[in-house]
Amino acid sequence: LVVLDKVNKHYGPLHVLKDIDLAVRRGEVVVLIGPSGSGKSTLCRAINRLETIDSGSITVDGTPLPTEGRQLARLRAEVGMVFQGFNLFAHKTVLDNVTLAPVKVLKQNRRAAEQRAHELLDRVGIGSQAHKYPAQLSGGQQQRVAIARALAMDPKVILFDEPTSALDPEMVNEVLDVMTALARDGMTMVVVTHEMGFARRAADRVVFMADGQIVEENTPHEFFDNPRSERAQAFLAKIL
Ligand code: ATP
Ligand code: MG
Repeated sequence: LVVLDKVNKHYGPLHVLKDIDLAVRRGEVVVLIGPSGSGKSTLCRAINRLETIDSGSITVDGTPLPTEGRQLARLRAEVGMVFQGFNLFAHKTVLDNVTLAPVKVLKQNRRAAEQRAHELLDRVGIGSQAHKYPAQLSGGQQQRVAIARALAMDPKVILFDEPTSALDPEMVNEVLDVMTALARDGMTMVVVTHEMGFARRAADRVVFMADGQIVEENTPHEFFDNPRSERAQAFLAKIL
């Protein structure tokens, strides 16, 4: 569904993505891990075209990433993104946060968008919070709104970049549980996370990056119990 072929990206002299080849199949959950600065966020942002790439190609569902405005909006609808900070609109209610893009970008009628938003908010466990403002919610609840907002666009894939890193520990699991349920439901997901428990239970594949390269990829079971590269072994020794 998402195919990266020999993708390279530089920031000035810094070579942050080096010949990245990666294919994410429909329904697959890929967890991206690796040391700080290894290029995980840059890779996610490139797939959503929040970053341009210098060479190589990225396709989503067979279509190369567009460059021009109108098609870009369509790409962003197909590729959902959930960040570390929740990036909700502070002056809009939860319901409006979830319906804004479907109404504006997908031209859904408001009634239909609101009905769907209520369903999605129920699905992420915050059905009763629809008329609150983001500041009235906990971090975990806000992140679940962000997930509902991504789902409202019916994306083909959702990218998660450290979705639980900004949360208080007691709220991490409520977000991971929603993500695990999505994974079980067959959503195609690319997840950057340090939550190795999530990786073990939800990932189909773990991709380990270091220094802008994919060093190793394997099933979570193989990767965690039997890392092949020294870099992965050293990384796991530090975090587990
Ligand atoms: P972390 O685990 O800390 O989030 P990461 O794997 O997500 O790290 P990236 O954010 O992709 O890493 O960054 C990769 C490299 O690119 C780092 O060396 C970073 O300093 C650099 N970098 C990222 N964004 C920019 C930018 N806008 N301009 C210049 N350099 C950048
Ligand atoms: Mg990052």
